[in-house]
Amino acid sequence: APDRELLSAADVTRTIARIAHQIIEKTAFEPARAEDVVLIGIPTGGAVLARRLAAAIAEFTGTAPAVGSVDPTLYRDDLRRQPARALEDTAVPESGLDDKLVVLVDDVLFSGRTVRAALDALRDHGRPRAVQLAVLIDRGHRELPIRADYVGKNVPTSRSETILVSLTEIDGRDGVALRRG
Ligand code: 5GP
Ligand code: MG
Repeated sequence: APDRELLSAADVTRTIARIAHQIIEKTAFEPARAEDVVLIGIPTGGAVLARRLAAAIAEFTGTAPAVGSVDPTLYRDDLRRQPARALEDTAVPESGLDDKLVVLVDDVLFSGRTVRAALDALRDHGRPRAVQLAVLIDRGHRELPIRADYVGKNVPTSRSETILVSLTEIDGRDGVALRRG
């Protein structure tokens, strides 16, 4: 079967704008204390989305929150079960994450194991005041007690299906589609 479009390019733009508004509201984001909020993306898709969200927040408030990324690879509980992988970028603001409100950002939330590992990776950089989670797509099938605070779209999937996320910075265009297994 052909891939089924879930979000058009315009939908992706709108969804990012909506989540940016929700982050502003839920974190009580204020330009005067912009450095209180740090968006941390999980490479590679989540890191791109974190930068997009920060740009949208800057567009709406005049000030961008800090942006960074953490690579959860070495903190995974299934590290020994998976083929060796290249490590991705970890780049956390120099001031660290002590007392910050961190918004973790990823493209797709599935079992929750990546987010759990990312929470461990954050610990190397301080003790945030709170951590929230933003995802473009929640496809279900959680294996851990993890939920997102901000969800672009909930997409019930079977385990054999895959969400195809395309982002301009990586793929040359924006879009989300469902591929049947
Ligand atoms: P989890 O660790 O929650 O099982 O899976 C989430 C991580 O794997 C995310 O970093 C996400 O990029 C990737 N992932 C899991 N399922 C999918 C999927 O269906 N499509 C895409 N594009 N990524 C997925
Ligand atoms: Mg990923």
